[in-house]
Amino acid sequence: MGTLLDEIIEYGGEVFGKEHMETVRECVQCGKCTGSCPSGRITAYRTRKMIQMARMNLREVLSMYELWFCTTCFTCYERCPRGVKVTDIIRTMRNIAVSEGHMSFSHKKVATYVFKTGHAVPIGEPQMKLREGVGLDPMAPTTQKFPEQLEQVREIVRTTGFDKKVGFDWETMKLREELEEGK
Ligand code: SF4
Ligand code: SF4
Repeated sequence: MGTLLDEIIEYGGEVFGKEHMETVRECVQCGKCTGSCPSGRITAYRTRKMIQMARMNLREVLSMYELWFCTTCFTCYERCPRGVKVTDIIRTMRNIAVSEGHMSFSHKKVATYVFKTGHAVPIGEPQMKLREGVGLDPMAPTTQKFPEQLEQVREIVRTTGFDKKVGFDWETMKLREELEEGK
């Protein structure tokens, strides 16, 4: 088995291209990503540390809760002096983490919104009013307006097994974690 770094490059390479992912090798640990990170200002999340742990083949980085604190704002990506595609590397690390059974509760919750409505951020009354105010149809042409399309989203979720990874129960439309805790 290769190193975690090889895995990140291979896994992310399928989406972003290997050259893009290989930039992880260019990190010089300058810390500009950490210094720019809005999430790191208020949490224990340290971008530079995540990248270095991956480079050192420290697989425990995949189960660290902080991995989920990145908001994917792309500031580090824009500012890295070495052209490391930081955000995409972090996102790939998350994908690998999920495949190994690690995912934050908040991200699982967001996934349930997709399963229920087709939206990570469902359109509610306030958004509908805003749309109406500027002369738009209050319902955007999405799965919320066309529920038959929602079934297609759910089919993708089931076919890829994403529902199982998240631990979603279709009968109650809740996460197993929520059911266990009686939420
Ligand atoms: S800004 Fe770039 S080179 Fe500097 S620590 Fe972050 S990833 Fe590494
Ligand atoms: S993309 Fe993530 S790691 Fe990079 S600055 Fe934004 S929150 Fe921090």
